[in-house]
Amino acid sequence: MEFDVIIGLEVHAQMNTKTKMFCACDNDAWEKAPNTTVCPVCMGHPGTLPVVNKAVLEKAVRSSVALGCTVNHDSHFDRKNYFYPDLPAGYQISQYKHPLASHGIVKFSVTDPKTNTSEAAECRIHRLHIENDAGKLMHRANHTLCDYNRAGTPLMEIVTEPDLRSPKQASAFAEELRRILINAGTSEADMYKGMMRFDASISLRPKGEEKLYPRVEIKNLNSFKSLEKALQYQEKILRKLWSESKQPTGETTVGWIDDEEKTVLLRDKESAADYRYFPEPDIPPLEVSDAFIAAVTAGLAKLPSEMKAQYTALGLTEAEAAMLVDQEPLRARFDAIQAAIGEPKRASSLVLTQMPGFLTQHGKSLSNAPSIADMVELAKAIHSGAINVNAGKDVLEKMILSGKSAGVIIKDEGMGQVSDDATLKKFITEAIAANPKAVASFKEGKTAALGAIVGAVMKLTKGQADAAKVNALLLKEIA
Ligand SMILES: [Zn+2]
Repeated sequence: MEFDVIIGLEVHAQMNTKTKMFCACDNDAWEKAPNTTVCPVCMGHPGTLPVVNKAVLEKAVRSSVALGCTVNHDSHFDRKNYFYPDLPAGYQISQYKHPLASHGIVKFSVTDPKTNTSEAAECRIHRLHIENDAGKLMHRANHTLCDYNRAGTPLMEIVTEPDLRSPKQASAFAEELRRILINAGTSEADMYKGMMRFDASISLRPKGEEKLYPRVEIKNLNSFKSLEKALQYQEKILRKLWSESKQPTGETTVGWIDDEEKTVLLRDKESAADYRYFPEPDIPPLEVSDAFIAAVTAGLAKLPSEMKAQYTALGLTEAEAAMLVDQEPLRARFDAIQAAIGEPKRASSLVLTQMPGFLTQHGKSLSNAPSIADMVELAKAIHSGAINVNAGKDVLEKMILSGKSAGVIIKDEGMGQVSDDATLKKFITEAIAANPKAVASFKEGKTAALGAIVGAVMKLTKGQADAAKVNALLLKEIA
């Protein structure tokens, strides 16, 4: 039997606000001592009152719009009740019935690295809601430690429709989602720091059928690689179960064990009733006006997919365009050079090939790269003919090593291109005198002989002559 693979994702992304969701505690707990960025509000002490951080709402609205969602003018918070030691209040403040936003769509592409071709795909977003994160448990031999630094960190939960059709498509979508959030400036989405986490649901359905079969939910996937591997693993199990007519009859939840590359059964999936949701009594309903949406989404950058399309339209390859979309420091330099000289090929050669090459060669990182203004100055010097392409490479390497600007290096090292007529003519006369055979061949009609004389001039000027000008002057001289 042939099957469709049906995958949907729930993504949790931490927002990069300065303070937590309902209190003034530092929202950046990375490498801070346990339980040092906490207060009675995020510790869930009785009698405290949560106050919604305005920046949380701004960032969540920005993200919603970037994901093509409709922002709902009225939404409210609900209490999701469950007991777990990392949740000090005994409930999470989330949004259940009326989420902040719904009905979005994300366009993305799935690249096949073998053929370097990409296929366009789409995934609808069911909803985006906001909620607070829980703390962290650290399990030691026979006891468990609680760190509440992360408790109260604002999260966006983004739920997709079951539109994804393969594990590869799911990870490509997740990567695009990460790009969109980073680009919107709403989440650092650093996978290593656990700022973006996935739960994935997968089921199979015989081809041609419309209905959905009970799904298996895989919890807490922390990287694109584990997302893809866990889904591949579960797909294989489901195919085997279907072939033995033992397909799942109810929804189940499994956990992925990264080291062993397998899933283990956690429990039957909880239903909404298990959480005893009710409207959060301490926070008034959220009202989001059109004016607020317009204000916080003004200046929202282009979507990563739109940027990529613009770069490939300039003649850049898929891989070059992807580098620019993913790495803002490269993009800023490329865009500035392109705006100054309008030569995309030259800009990409300088920014995507030469600059990273020299940085790596000299053990430096992108943070040591020449400034945007310095790179533009270098590109202009090459574009105007003040230095030739090879000299440009030398100047760039020296810029990276010394931190000096292109202009200073060109002046100090006398690297400027020789292009004034009088000087060039002097060298041309010298080259003609030294190459009588080439001159004679040229006069017999062998035009290729001209190259030898031009080469002699380049040698005399240590490669600094303007080759095009030498050609023109030489023709006048001997033709
Ligand atoms: Zn706090």
